[in-house]
Amino acid sequence: MGEITIKGATYWNVFAHDRLLCLLPVWEPKRNELETQQKNRKAGQAGEERVMEVIRSSGLPNDCLVLSDISLEIIPGVTIQMDALVLTPAIILIFETKQVAGRLRFVRNPAQLEKVEDGKIILSMDCPAAQFEDQRASLETWLRMRGFFIPIGGSVVFTTNPIIETIPQGLPVIKLRELRGFIAKSLQFTPVISVHEVEVLANTIRSSLSPYIPFPLFGKYGFESEKFDWGPRCDCGNLLDKTSEMTWSCRPCELVIKDPYVKTLLTWFLLRSKTITVKQFCLIFQCSRRTGVRVLNRLPLMRKGNARSTYYEIDYRQLNLFEW
Ligand SMILES: [Zn+2]
Repeated sequence: MGEITIKGATYWNVFAHDRLLCLLPVWEPKRNELETQQKNRKAGQAGEERVMEVIRSSGLPNDCLVLSDISLEIIPGVTIQMDALVLTPAIILIFETKQVAGRLRFVRNPAQLEKVEDGKIILSMDCPAAQFEDQRASLETWLRMRGFFIPIGGSVVFTTNPIIETIPQGLPVIKLRELRGFIAKSLQFTPVISVHEVEVLANTIRSSLSPYIPFPLFGKYGFESEKFDWGPRCDCGNLLDKTSEMTWSCRPCELVIKDPYVKTLLTWFLLRSKTITVKQFCLIFQCSRRTGVRVLNRLPLMRKGNARSTYYEIDYRQLNLFEW
């Protein structure tokens, strides 16, 4: 089994909110709510990782390829997000992770998943099985438009071991411990494409990824960017002290940091704006214009404007090109 590792929408959403929480002062009223949301986001990510671990250890043969955290634009403006995709010569499997514990009940008309406690419905959510069917149909359309005709299966996978009252027959819903068996059964189907075509398919998907992430986040939450200090920070949240033209230090952590540029700029782009001017850069890093232009030119950014009005713009679809 081969695996293609991609940082997708889930990864970047968690990363951006970590940076956001580093920046927000403790007294910020929205902080509590954002911390809770981030905890849920990370629990979801951990669930997806558990599903991936089972897939990796499920004895998939060499001609299979696994991808995770996939976003594809089906038609302009409509994106589907899939937690895990297993490409085999016989079938494509989609796995959607669901992190709901407790007692659950599937109902129809409208299709919903209810969480029940002491006989009362305490939470009602969109039916994950119905969502899964939408995804499967969308992926099928997307593939057909690109000339791939291959069956698509898969399932919703509950990672928290809930008590499910009844699963209506034929509903694509399993628990994590059933995943290995589910994959083994799917591998018995007859191949419909060659190993080479599996690779072509994986490359087609990889080159079409378009994670939709609502950046910059400040606009979404209504924070005023002028009130915050955008200078380089340590992972502990502390603002770094500049000790020379090229070095910074974190006093509490007793760390010397040489290249805080990429992480600081990513924070800027993910939270504040999709553009930055050389002047803004120099203010953040307290550096010369020469240093600013030199650093900005070596990053995967688009250079726009001319001479003194030069600014740099990020393409959020190319976030993966940033390394630090
Ligand atoms: Zn620190």
